[in-house]
Amino acid sequence: MGTRIADRDVLSKAITLLLKYPLCENCLGRLFGGLGRGLSNYERGRALKIVVLMDIYRRFIEGSMNKEEFITIASNIGSIAKQSVLELGFPISEDRSRCIICGFSSLEEKLVEWAQRIVKYIKEYNARSFLVGVVKGSSIEKREEELAREIELKYYENIRNEVKREVGKKVQELIDIKPNFTRPDVVLIVDIDNDAITVKPMPIYIKGRYWKLGRRISQAKWILWNGSKKYPLSIEEVLEPMGEIVGAKEVILHASGREDVDVRMLGTGRPFIVELKEPKTYNFDLKTLEEKANSVSRYVRFTLECETSRKDIRLIKIERARKTKVYKALIVVEKDLSEDELKRLEEYFRGRVIRQRTPRRVLHRRPDVERHRKVYNVKTKLITSNVFEALIECEGGLYVKELVSGDNGRTKPSFAEYLGAQAVCIELDVIAVYQ
Ligand SMILES: [Zn+2]
Repeated sequence: MGTRIADRDVLSKAITLLLKYPLCENCLGRLFGGLGRGLSNYERGRALKIVVLMDIYRRFIEGSMNKEEFITIASNIGSIAKQSVLELGFPISEDRSRCIICGFSSLEEKLVEWAQRIVKYIKEYNARSFLVGVVKGSSIEKREEELAREIELKYYENIRNEVKREVGKKVQELIDIKPNFTRPDVVLIVDIDNDAITVKPMPIYIKGRYWKLGRRISQAKWILWNGSKKYPLSIEEVLEPMGEIVGAKEVILHASGREDVDVRMLGTGRPFIVELKEPKTYNFDLKTLEEKANSVSRYVRFTLECETSRKDIRLIKIERARKTKVYKALIVVEKDLSEDELKRLEEYFRGRVIRQRTPRRVLHRRPDVERHRKVYNVKTKLITSNVFEALIECEGGLYVKELVSGDNGRTKPSFAEYLGAQAVCIELDVIAVYQ
């Protein structure tokens, strides 16, 4: 190398770089991205190119830099140096017009183009918020790392960060919606290597409550091995037409607990979050969705409260164990009962902890464990000599049918055990699920 170059300062490093490689403003600036605040890499790169040009111009006219080096560096600088080179009567070598890192003649122009393409997607989906992501491990990233190592650049910034930040800013300038880092409607992923953008529509989550006014309605769709449905209706299916309004690919119900298929859900209704996967549009209002859901079956009703996020699903599922529930049970006993006996039963079960091993009816799909759940209150009403109705307020997760029957001694104590006769719950409704 004919030129003496001190090896530590920014200017010397910029000259070393530009003597070897053509670099666009952004990529040159980004190699010093950690230096200075409130600047874009484009500004850093442009400033460096101007100073380098001034410096080599001085060296050349003073005779301390030869013509070949001057032309090489000036060509690698690009358009900023064009005028100077031409006025000195030298040619610019056109093969140096592509940046060694990004491969484009100007990353800045690409950033603008990507932002415009992203705006199209945002409009297509009627998205209210967005987030820009960049595919990791591109060959460009590797080139950048190699170069930074070679020239010992400590302050370089990763190209992915620049693309994410700058494209986000430009999109915001174009359509005035802000990037959302936690709950974007759409995520736009830039693949720098392939100059491609893919859109990932994020699910819509809506919080609500449902009421099940009939029996033989399952919560999730229950498809048998032969492809037919086990029950004529499910809550999830009733929600599906609502998904069609936003063009969702799939509708998933996340409920706070579950009643048995033959149990109605009345009173306060049961909280749930419905997930509308891969929607085609984010332009909707809750009222329209709610009306649609309520038009499907008169046995299932909904209210939709608000939009929410994925993390609330975990929340309503964790909470369910702690939630207090109220059931209404219709119970048949194999002996005649008196009002007094039922009053004593109410007393006995008030505040009592029930030990339950997994009911036999669900043993085929649940592990055999013992759980302890509390009954807070029982209120009874004798209907005929051996039939009574009971309102049971208890901790969530109590198996109420087994509280009544005793499940062959697997639930203790039970109504049957206390009354000294077989007892069966023939109808069960959930009346309340408290938050
Ligand atoms: Zn570049």
